[in-house]
Amino acid sequence: MRAMVLDKPGQPLQLRDVPKPKPGRGQLLVRVSTCAVCRTDLHVADGELPDPKLPLILGHQIVGRVEEIGEMFEGPQRPDNRGAKDAPTFAIGDRVGIPWLGWTDGDCSYCRSGRENLCDNALFTGYTLNGGYAEFSVADSRYCFHLAERYGDVEVAPLLCAGLIGYRSYRKTGDARRLGIYGFGNAAHLIAQIAIYEGRELFAFTRPGDKATQQTAKELGAVWACGSDEMPPEKLDAAIIFAPVGQLVPVALRALAKGGVVVCGGIHMTDIPSFPYVDLWEERVITSVANLTRRDGEEFFEIVPRVPIRTNTETFALEKANTALDLFRAGKLSATAVLTIGK
Ligand SMILES: [Zn+2]
Ligand SMILES: [Zn+2]
Repeated sequence: MRAMVLDKPGQPLQLRDVPKPKPGRGQLLVRVSTCAVCRTDLHVADGELPDPKLPLILGHQIVGRVEEIGEMFEGPQRPDNRGAKDAPTFAIGDRVGIPWLGWTDGDCSYCRSGRENLCDNALFTGYTLNGGYAEFSVADSRYCFHLAERYGDVEVAPLLCAGLIGYRSYRKTGDARRLGIYGFGNAAHLIAQIAIYEGRELFAFTRPGDKATQQTAKELGAVWACGSDEMPPEKLDAAIIFAPVGQLVPVALRALAKGGVVVCGGIHMTDIPSFPYVDLWEERVITSVANLTRRDGEEFFEIVPRVPIRTNTETFALEKANTALDLFRAGKLSATAVLTIGK
């Protein structure tokens, strides 16, 4: 099969013919239709995340169809760490979404306490497992999702990470009425729609001077949109930072009301500068969000068609994955890049 392979961080991906993977026990062999490009792919390709599997096929927002099903687990097939409904079942030909969380041990203290996103031994699609920049991919069926019919293969792909992990960040803001979002990219665009649907007042912060993105945020329903160097007119109950820029943490903290929370939604961020304790005082909180649980996915995909969330996408052929990554790195994409692979 054709795949775009990362041999070593810092080098462009190589188009290569590699053996088609075989589904193991409990795995699905999926014929990939689309795979959205995530900022995490950039972090992996650029060597900003430690110890990727090498060589590696990137990509963890995969949409495809089940081609083959490996031998299933005997008896009750799910560990009890799921804390939600039964694992989804799939038949040959079903459409399937494969996310970032690829496998957990079900047995560590985190899994046993409903926090499989923090599992000590978790494996991640397109990082420590091969992902979807390829014609086929295999995935443990217990971590895959069914996707709402109303969405096409291209438009649904960005929901699998930007949407899902954005959603986990959003949930960490509790019932914040005034919500700030710093870095108005893919994740922000999706989460803003849920926030507005749920009646939050949205304050959007973009790169200073980025009027186009501020306009987009206003069109989505933000009550205020400005550069991240400006203070909002009212104190925020919560702020999510999607930009990988540590300097924004003290900035967002200063925009918070008492008891407010700053949620860092990315997997990688530049260093956070020091700030006076008084900015954290009065029970303000800084937290990060790591990965996702399957329960997050079930909740998220339940709410998606109700909003309904719309995605903006720009498609690239599989062979053009390096172009998509380069444009993303340079901040020159105006929508989520989606690789179109199969039919
Ligand atoms: Zn675990
Ligand atoms: Zn991602």
